[in-house]
Amino acid sequence: MAIKLTEQSPKRKPKKPEGQTRSGQQRAARQKIRRALGRPAIHRNIDGLLDQIKMRRRLLSHGMGQMRSIIDIRQVPVPQSNQFTFHSKAVGEKGVVHKQVINLYDVGFSDKKDRNHTIKIKFPNNLVKYMIRLRGDILPVQVRCSCLDYYFTWWWYNRDPNKVHAGARMRPYVRKTLPPPEGYPFRNVAHIPGFCKHLLGLVLKLIKMGLLVTKNDPMTVYRNANKK
Ligand SMILES: [Zn+2]
Repeated sequence: MAIKLTEQSPKRKPKKPEGQTRSGQQRAARQKIRRALGRPAIHRNIDGLLDQIKMRRRLLSHGMGQMRSIIDIRQVPVPQSNQFTFHSKAVGEKGVVHKQVINLYDVGFSDKKDRNHTIKIKFPNNLVKYMIRLRGDILPVQVRCSCLDYYFTWWWYNRDPNKVHAGARMRPYVRKTLPPPEGYPFRNVAHIPGFCKHLLGLVLKLIKMGLLVTKNDPMTVYRNANKK
């Protein structure tokens, strides 16, 4: 199966060289620490997260809500760091657009096709590489969504101790309402890592597109998550 990259990576604004600005200095210092520590420990994969969400109805106070269609899927293979990233969008109620990210790590790339590297990837500069099949039960993963369910239910527990939150940390949430029964029920009493319906929708779509294989059937997971 060949993957055609129709879109190039988004054009970024040219950044000031590191060290010129205050935030640049801080970023450089953080990068230095990160390099010294090595890659962050990621020990969860997509199936591990699906296993958690399967129990969601038992563990959480609320279901998953209506599935949304996922659009604008962008694939970004990064052979230099053995990484493959998917970006997508989902249009919710009232036309609000939510953005998803799934980063897969330890993805093997090779210049030659062999038993393990079977998926052909054409890069915009005509470079061709072969990639392993993306498996949800093996490859470490990090995820992110810009929706409120991800923010209120998941990001904090995805971040620590599970290390499955992708990218920059979000603003810590401070509860402003009374505790239950007066106020809303607590969002993630079991402190489980997981993901929202948009990320589940993206996983489902990637499986349908033949880009990902998982042990769990995401539709079963979705039905379980919404069981009354
Ligand atoms: Zn979401």
